[in-house]
Amino acid sequence: MTSSYLHRNCPICGAAPPSNPEIASSPPAETMEFDELVPCWNGLFKAKVFFSYCRCPSCQLLYSPIFFTGEQLEKLYAQMPPNMDIVPRVSLEKTQAGYFDILQREVDLKGKLIEVGPDIGLFAKNCVERRAFDEYWLFEPNRDVEPALRGTMGDSSFHIIHDMFGFDSVPDGAASVAVMVHVMDHLLDPIATLRSLGRKLRPGGHVMLVTHDEASLLRRAIDVRWPAFCLQHPQIYNPETMRRLFEASDYTVTKQCKTVNYFPVHFLLKQGLWALGLKIERLPTFGQVAVGLKLGNMLTIATPKGVY
Ligand SMILES: [Zn+2]
Repeated sequence: MTSSYLHRNCPICGAAPPSNPEIASSPPAETMEFDELVPCWNGLFKAKVFFSYCRCPSCQLLYSPIFFTGEQLEKLYAQMPPNMDIVPRVSLEKTQAGYFDILQREVDLKGKLIEVGPDIGLFAKNCVERRAFDEYWLFEPNRDVEPALRGTMGDSSFHIIHDMFGFDSVPDGAASVAVMVHVMDHLLDPIATLRSLGRKLRPGGHVMLVTHDEASLLRRAIDVRWPAFCLQHPQIYNPETMRRLFEASDYTVTKQCKTVNYFPVHFLLKQGLWALGLKIERLPTFGQVAVGLKLGNMLTIATPKGVY
């Protein structure tokens, strides 16, 4: 029953959706049954399928007016097979170290950190190594990564909470920084999340988000094939709409920039050759040379206006 999906107005400003989408897959997800979409969600279906994205006529947010309900999303995330990273870990770590360097330049790192969706701790590792914070609250629903995350955190003072948004376990005003790397694009109600996080920050605290940028060159170049157009993203931001989201959630944006993703040269070559239809298993490794690419991601830092 396609009518079982959520029908919604713009999650930032509440305006009604326009009649035509800006971008749609063929077929669009909203014309398919929930059961048919499960293999697509898990990446096991070849054709690319996503819910049509519309541009809000009022605030310009790119979002899906028809999307999974919260209940359907819970089911989908719960049955998802484990993360299979195709990018080597050393490159993922280098990418996340870049986020940490930006945060470190913008914000006085001390006090306590909240991270939502830390996975195995690729970002938190930087904080722990530099003893940036004295306590950590890590909201990670995936129990399979807990041993690796514990290993990363070592002897630091930390709490792992398996409820993604169980922010109640953090005392109000306790944290100085909250971080979400590639989490915000997944949330159905981003304003409610930012407001409840804001209550957990001390005066002058900061939120740092890494998200996709739908106004990026990469998106424009590959359009419907852009990987961020997918069933996991109910809306996708650009620098302007991200600012509007923070304004609507009673924050002031203090920093916005593009971010760099690192890949080893041999990995890129292999992927490039794969894209041409050649499956070559062995390639010279070119040592461990990594290339940094601006791949259509952005980082935003904001501070609450203190009106909660
Ligand atoms: Zn809007």
